[in-house]
Amino acid sequence: MPTVSHWINGQDVPTDAGTRLGDIMNPATGRVAGQVALASRATVESAIASAAEAFPAWRDTSLSRRTAILFNFRELLNARKQELAEIITAEHGKVVSDALGEVARGQEVVEFACGIAHQLKGGHTQNASTKIDVHSLRQPVGVSAIISPFNFPAMVPMWFFPVAIATGNAVVLKPSEKDPSAANWIAELWKEAGLPDGVFNVVHGDKEAVDTILESPEVASVSFVGSTPIAKYVYENGTATGKRVQALGGAKNHMMVLPDADLDLAADAAVNAGYGAAGERCMAISVVVAVESIADELVGKIAERTRTLRIGDGTTEPDMGPLVTEAHRDKVAGYIDAGEESGATLVLDGREHEHSEGFFLNPTLFDHVTPDMSIYTEEIFGPVLAVVRVPGYDEGIELINANPYGNGTAIFTNDGGAARRYENEIEVGMIGINVPIPVPVGYYSFGGWKNSLFGDTHAYGEEGVHFFTRGKVVTSRWLDPSHGGLNLGFPTND
Ligand code: NAD
Repeated sequence: MPTVSHWINGQDVPTDAGTRLGDIMNPATGRVAGQVALASRATVESAIASAAEAFPAWRDTSLSRRTAILFNFRELLNARKQELAEIITAEHGKVVSDALGEVARGQEVVEFACGIAHQLKGGHTQNASTKIDVHSLRQPVGVSAIISPFNFPAMVPMWFFPVAIATGNAVVLKPSEKDPSAANWIAELWKEAGLPDGVFNVVHGDKEAVDTILESPEVASVSFVGSTPIAKYVYENGTATGKRVQALGGAKNHMMVLPDADLDLAADAAVNAGYGAAGERCMAISVVVAVESIADELVGKIAERTRTLRIGDGTTEPDMGPLVTEAHRDKVAGYIDAGEESGATLVLDGREHEHSEGFFLNPTLFDHVTPDMSIYTEEIFGPVLAVVRVPGYDEGIELINANPYGNGTAIFTNDGGAARRYENEIEVGMIGINVPIPVPVGYYSFGGWKNSLFGDTHAYGEEGVHFFTRGKVVTSRWLDPSHGGLNLGFPTND
């Protein structure tokens, strides 16, 4: 049985008898597929030390050399993305084409980072005062830690490390222990692309690894993505030890459908964004806010489409795969129990399915959900879609703004004025207008509001460059002996 171990200073770290191990499951079969080493404090410290040692030389490596390595990485990734997608599917369970989509989104950030020279240009002012010039520059922060969730084992790390590395930092990645193999595959690709050893390290593990990162004086920044309670914990403890921290948390994304919307388009979007990746996406739609006058028709269209979805092993290219673990599947099923008990109308019951093995649940649709029910208040992170009916537009906006999460949202309408008002008034970080999942492209930045983000910096794009660099302003005066300056012994023309 394969054991996934850490990658420190350009090589695999062998496990020994004392290494703590966790199981890696195949969610489609429900069987153990491998094991992952769970790092001790000492192992994490050695990864941090390796990054700290590699940092100065990498910081001082020319931009053209850094960029060349990023281009190499991009080419290798593009050529071999199928391999990575299959690794993701084997451990996460998502459909292979969806895993390929995940890699493509990560690749966009690599491509953004290939143009880092442009992003790092500073400003220059000549003669700010007489013969005094001022210029600004941005420098890397140092050792940058990334702690990522299970649901995008390749894409989420790629939200951060291309920009961190391109700006001259050295990275320690702590991926989710549930699907750890993608990170090691990526580490080997960096080596092949020519990245010096120690600039990209991977440690696998759990709370012990995370706490070691948060407490280490050598770690300058932490980029975290995961559930809201852990995001808050990482933000509070990381900043308490003086680090800069961006911690992206959970979500409860609403899709508002106005009466003038194209209901077929809206129903397609609800099904894709609600059940894609079994709802295990931070940008999944989990609540459809339907204006009462079209709610019956919309629910009918969503149900009709959902019934046609094929659920199965992600390697066989169905519409939806299993959930990541048995515990998570059971937790999501528990929410379905609670929704039924609280009086919501269960239109489609995902607990009824034909899979005898693996962590499957079929898509579930609830109608007449009210904001006090746990299926509304809590992040379910599974294939469960809740329809909340509202009398009109104002009540819809009020509902969404009262929700403690603010990651993503979508509105379906053909009224430009209504969409414009939504864009202005909704308290959410990423907004889709007649599109199901509003994930920004690599040259914009990704992040939510409220309980979906702790810290003030979003991932990648310009904000990512800002996060991984610190500003300096230089004020200089160079005396010119030929024009009445100090005579410093320079040759003059006279
Ligand atoms: P999680 O919070 O359980 O784990 C995230 C990371 O934190 C993992 O690396 C894990 O090992 C570590 N961790 C877990 N428990 C810890 C603890 N007690 N102390 C310290 N570290 C701990 O999240 P998950 O289940 O892997 O991922 C799903 C969550 O991530 C969902 O809530 C989802 O909304 C969120 N997510 C958010 C975004 C976003 O952009 N906002 C993107 C993807 C996922």
